[in-house]
Amino acid sequence: MGKFDFLTNLASIPGFPLFLDYDGTLVPIQKDPLRCFADKPLIGLLHRLMEHHEVYIVTGRSMDEIDRMLGEKLDAVTWHGNIARVHGRIQYLNSRVESTIETIDSILLNRERFEESYPGLKVYSKNPGVLFHLWDLSAEMGQKLHRELLQISQETGTVLYSGKGIYEIIPPDSSKGNAIRLLREGREALIAGDDATDEESFRVNSDTFTVKVGQGETAARHRVSDYMEMRRLLEFILSSRN
Ligand SMILES: [Mg+2]
Repeated sequence: MGKFDFLTNLASIPGFPLFLDYDGTLVPIQKDPLRCFADKPLIGLLHRLMEHHEVYIVTGRSMDEIDRMLGEKLDAVTWHGNIARVHGRIQYLNSRVESTIETIDSILLNRERFEESYPGLKVYSKNPGVLFHLWDLSAEMGQKLHRELLQISQETGTVLYSGKGIYEIIPPDSSKGNAIRLLREGREALIAGDDATDEESFRVNSDTFTVKVGQGETAARHRVSDYMEMRRLLEFILSSRN
């Protein structure tokens, strides 16, 4: 039995779409998230896949940021499943994107006030989006910030998202899983990801081929050990086409 034999049935379906998380799935996780640039072999691999398949990069990053990491504009599902580029065209997948961006813009006008009131906090514009990076914030200040942001999100009908050392304001009903489901249009697909936020994508799309990258409990049907093995899996899909 070959390592990727579980993909034989999928690989025989012409043109099935791929939904690939970026950080930790296609490239190694790095300390500085703004330096996770795609290497040439990866870009080459994605282009060879794109000759036969729809390929979407699925990421919590904004479109601007993932474009910068890749060095080009590939089709993608970004900002927690809210904004996609499909065949080169930007689509809002959530009707609340615009009103959420308005809220975020008004927060960004108060960026300095936030950084002054919460020593150690850094506030970044994600375009769209705002990232509260907790850097050197004390636990006590962190709780105070959490209360303030929760209040803002409740008053504006947005959602406060807590990640590893960060807070974000995002649209209500954000769902990478639903975004993927919409773009699949009922087709079999390959969905791969490495962290907790990818689990929702696996659960919402449990009827197709899901791959967890790395250790840990998962709702995915299959697993590879790391991003290098994930790339070998993608090579396998290409080789079974020839
Ligand atoms: Mg990831």
